[in-house]
Amino acid sequence: MRILVVEDEQKVANALKQGLEDERYEVVVAQTGEDAFFRVNTEKFDLILLDLMLPGRDGLQILTSLRKRGVETAVLLLTARDTLEDRVAGLNSGADDYLVKPFAFAELVARIRALLRRGRPADSLRLGLGDLDMDLVTRKVTRGGRTVELTTREFELLEYLLRHEGQVVLRDTLAREVWKETARGTPLNNVIDVHIARLRRKVDLDQPVKLIHTVRGVGFMLHEEEP
Ligand code: CA
Repeated sequence: MRILVVEDEQKVANALKQGLEDERYEVVVAQTGEDAFFRVNTEKFDLILLDLMLPGRDGLQILTSLRKRGVETAVLLLTARDTLEDRVAGLNSGADDYLVKPFAFAELVARIRALLRRGRPADSLRLGLGDLDMDLVTRKVTRGGRTVELTTREFELLEYLLRHEGQVVLRDTLAREVWKETARGTPLNNVIDVHIARLRRKVDLDQPVKLIHTVRGVGFMLHEEEP
């Protein structure tokens, strides 16, 4: 499997290349949008890892041009947290998934594997479980067709749980992956519990089937409760 990494920062690009090669992918790095465009038009890739922040033509412009030209290669966007809202919210130009920097490398590999497995379905920017639906582009969440209003943090928390449906998610993992806090004196457990409680109220209250479950003493799990 060949991956094109489009990233202008040499250090980051090298780290991605090394890491992905260790996972047995063949990796080509393009450091500018122009180079990326040239590569895609002359070589074949199974996936494009595209950083949004590039000098010259940014990632979104590149993506739009590629899709316009009918290039259907799976694209995984890398984006900084502060650009996420406006960029991804305005994005319906054909990315298959995105990952917010900084991310755990294992998470990147998991997303790449998932994308390569499923090819390129048109609605891959949606997540869902049962009658719960999350649109990653408009950032709209509905349960049974009714809108669920979430704060940014609640949205990210629910997104993480949806991506790990059926798995026990530890509080430490949520602190790292959702709150992005690794070096903190006091644990975030209380904060996380409060957010889970709020999320549960918004998603599960008055619903016959509960989706958010506490695994006592361990963490949380998103799954459809047996009726
Ligand atoms: Ca960059």
